[in-house]
Amino acid sequence: MRFRCFHHPLYHYPLPAEHPFPMEKFSRSRALLEAELPAAMFLAPDPAPWDMLTLVHDPAYLTAVRDGRLSAFDRNRLGLPDDAALFDRSRRETHGTVLALRAALEHGAAANLGGGTHHAFADRGLGFCVLNDVAVACAVLRAERPGLRALVLDTDAHQGNGTHALLRGQPDRFSASLHVGRNYPAEKETGDLDVALPRGVDGPAYLAALDAALAEIAGRFAPDVVFWNTGADLHVDDRFGQMALTDADFAARDARVLAWTRARGLPLVALYGGGYNRDRARTARLHVDTVKRVAAAYGAT
Ligand SMILES: [Zn+2]
Repeated sequence: MRFRCFHHPLYHYPLPAEHPFPMEKFSRSRALLEAELPAAMFLAPDPAPWDMLTLVHDPAYLTAVRDGRLSAFDRNRLGLPDDAALFDRSRRETHGTVLALRAALEHGAAANLGGGTHHAFADRGLGFCVLNDVAVACAVLRAERPGLRALVLDTDAHQGNGTHALLRGQPDRFSASLHVGRNYPAEKETGDLDVALPRGVDGPAYLAALDAALAEIAGRFAPDVVFWNTGADLHVDDRFGQMALTDADFAARDARVLAWTRARGLPLVALYGGGYNRDRARTARLHVDTVKRVAAAYGAT
């Protein structure tokens, strides 16, 4: 099969140079993947339809972001300037996760070169996350393929609080998050499985926790499809993740997750999540290497 990579085209959304959000990682990583995964298909989604977004999100919140009418408080906790360009970008990014879901169900695996915006709630955006792409994709899944059970495996260094809240109480969804306990977001949500790790957790301790988490999930839930919010902010040189994984630890993390999904024959949707390396080019490299491992594990050429 040809591996499908969905990307959102507004790469150069203007942010001030000192802004902490590394918007350039999207253009950098796409360029690297086009060079290093030349047989893959690179597809630019249209904006997600409005009635797809309102499966999860409050229309009043959506219009406030689109029209740049967030309150100063809401704009500050989102961390990005609300306007029509950001809204368009976020809609395309969210649609990318939905399209990657459909592609994964058909072909085995697919990636959204973005997504994993796990801090977004129905009526508010937090921590650079405008829309909750995974929750929207889970709602689409329910409409299009009722009965299919979805696991959200969130290995980003921060808790997937919005995703936990949006999927809570749905027995056909299992929301699992491994993260640093004393890190953003200060106010945690309860998910189906939460593994709160200490600040500065290193590779061996992290991988042991991941092994235990995967074993526990296997005992509690039998998914039909997996959303993996990978996260590049576990790296020792990340500015915000507060973990201490090396490049080799990333390879080991990815091998464990991919062995787990492959052993069960599960379709996999791979998402970026966060990544804020002190070496800005490094962030794209970490995301790219994980996407390449996903493609290789699923036999994509
Ligand atoms: Zn994160």
